[in-house]
Amino acid sequence: MSAAVPGIPAPAFRRVLLAWYTASKRDLPWRRSNAFYPVWLSEVMLQQTRVEAVIPYYLRFLERWPSVEALAGAPETDVLAAWSGLGYYRRARNLHRAAAQMAAGGLPATHEQVLALPGAGTYTAAAIASIALGLPHAAVDGNVTRVVARLTNDASETTSPGARRRIAEAARALLDTRRPGDFNQAMMELGAVICLPRTPACGRCPVETFCAARAAGTAPELPVKLRKQKTRDVRLDLVVFENERGVFLMRRSSAERRLADFWELPEKKLLRGARCRRLREFRHQIVNDRLRVAVWTSRAAPPPEGRWFSFAELDGVPLTTVTRKALDARIPSGAGK
Ligand code: SF4
Repeated sequence: MSAAVPGIPAPAFRRVLLAWYTASKRDLPWRRSNAFYPVWLSEVMLQQTRVEAVIPYYLRFLERWPSVEALAGAPETDVLAAWSGLGYYRRARNLHRAAAQMAAGGLPATHEQVLALPGAGTYTAAAIASIALGLPHAAVDGNVTRVVARLTNDASETTSPGARRRIAEAARALLDTRRPGDFNQAMMELGAVICLPRTPACGRCPVETFCAARAAGTAPELPVKLRKQKTRDVRLDLVVFENERGVFLMRRSSAERRLADFWELPEKKLLRGARCRRLREFRHQIVNDRLRVAVWTSRAAPPPEGRWFSFAELDGVPLTTVTRKALDARIPSGAGK
């Protein structure tokens, strides 16, 4: 049994929050079914990724691979190609491995079995177990951490072990064990649309009367976070070789496991001073690297390692997000953004 959260009568809090969620939740495609496969697929895709970016990928995956067995039976390169542009590619490899595991051994039935799937961390396992299996596990992501830190007016740094423990305990104490999936989604929804990071919309908040930070006037300053690591400015020059055979790409080094099997444009420095013409420039951020990417073209011979891909083929090739952006309109249908 979880301890109560001081100042928050849990039954009343649950009632108000769930009534608000039922009436106002966004119509997101993964909310149309609580079946294991779509819930699991959406939770893996949503890790560190915005809802708007996930929606087209989620719909395409479900259409192309409508079951765990179908996904398990696909070649890994097809899954990586379909994932291209969504980032954090380790998730795609784990998704494929987990699908194979489930196709062989059956779908998980317990929280521990969900947690044992490749790529399922504490938060993801709790979200899947509660939504798809109805099991009483509180899912604590960044949104829920912010909501709970404000509800309890917790001004400690949220990544400290003490604060993590307190926030997890409070989330567990508030959880509605009869509707854990809806409750977890309601807390996340509150953080996503009302209890926003810089400007919480307290005046529209369904649980305003329960909130200690609102009463204390400290909501906009919470939660307290460690300063972010400094970002680095990185310059990248990529060359598009293009002719009637298509586009020339090089395979990412297999030593770099995260992006092994992905294809990308050659860097200009490999051309050893050959003449290039500048096409355009764009910016892209990867974790702490702020990239300024210049796209060039050249009539020189491409580097010896690599191969040509026809434009029609490009959609089925695992491309790094930067490559996909650099090729832009040359990719025929849109697996990418
Ligand atoms: Fe967040 Fe404000 Fe609602 Fe408190 S009252 S939970 S700070 S939006």
